[in-house]
Amino acid sequence: MVKGFGSSNTAGTLFFWESDMKAVLVERIGSFEHVELPIPEPASAEVLIHVAVAGLCRTDIKLIDVGHRDLTLPRIPAEEVVGNVTALGAGVDPAWLNKRVYVYPGTSCGACRPCRQGAGNLCRSMQIMGFHRDGGFAEYVCAPVDSLIEIPNACDYDRAVTAEPLSCCLNALELAQLKAGESLGIWGGGPAGAFLSRAALAMGASPTIFEPNPHRRSMLGAAERAQPDDAFDVAVVAVGSTEAYHESMAHLAPRGRLVLFSGLSPTETLQSVDFNALHYHEQSLVGAYGCSYRHGEQALNWISSGTVQVDDLISHRIPLSQLDQAIKLVREQQCMKILLYPES
Ligand SMILES: [Zn+2]
Repeated sequence: MVKGFGSSNTAGTLFFWESDMKAVLVERIGSFEHVELPIPEPASAEVLIHVAVAGLCRTDIKLIDVGHRDLTLPRIPAEEVVGNVTALGAGVDPAWLNKRVYVYPGTSCGACRPCRQGAGNLCRSMQIMGFHRDGGFAEYVCAPVDSLIEIPNACDYDRAVTAEPLSCCLNALELAQLKAGESLGIWGGGPAGAFLSRAALAMGASPTIFEPNPHRRSMLGAAERAQPDDAFDVAVVAVGSTEAYHESMAHLAPRGRLVLFSGLSPTETLQSVDFNALHYHEQSLVGAYGCSYRHGEQALNWISSGTVQVDDLISHRIPLSQLDQAIKLVREQQCMKILLYPES
């Protein structure tokens, strides 16, 4: 809660900064706590954002349960964040004050080889919100001004926050070189599979989702599993399952591209990859991880223009204080996208 929130001038100097905020903190792997923390102060070239909505991502749960390659502790999680700019660090253009913003969760250097090749998500000094620095499971979060994208007036916060999962899908489909008219097989009918399907439709491709859970199938009109003669130009595995990887490889068309979108737990490994099949059918394996800033811009554009419909994929709106209930819904696969509200 804000107690006597201090004033700030547009040059970014902050006075009487003596307020606390509610936040979710992971101090050790395996648990999280609801805590009161001081509202962070934006450093030079950063802004302070009053969080309106944070999306719950499966990665947030993985991060709490078993940690993550990119995680440092203690940490406030959440990389899907939108809100209102309420204070500015030194050197930030005053025009940002009170803007509604989407936060691209990465901070890339812009100078290393991956950055120069347009793969900011693979920056050698990548810093990810919710992993290397604090994220949006809090009333306030600081973010570099360079990571902000202004939300168009036509787009509300709830839809805008889904630009993050959508932008990861855009990165994956770009890497797969999915073209209009091509077929796309999606293994896994959770939120990621659903957003992949919507992105593919917007690109003029024909997506089919495969999902064993009947509740999820009914939400998405998905199929249970691929038929023996199904063959896809692009297959995406959006579920951390070795079985899905094996099945998707068996349903790849000649010159098909299999996108490794979902990671596997360290204890799971593929039994074998038939490299001769890849050779004779000129098929490719394509890794995809996260997204670049430009994917965030495109996702936000497509959502606000209605090119991609996301409203029906938001299944639950829950106060952040009930994060445990939200996580339970994800574990039991009883939801699509869950949005969390720090102040409700
Ligand atoms: Zn870089």
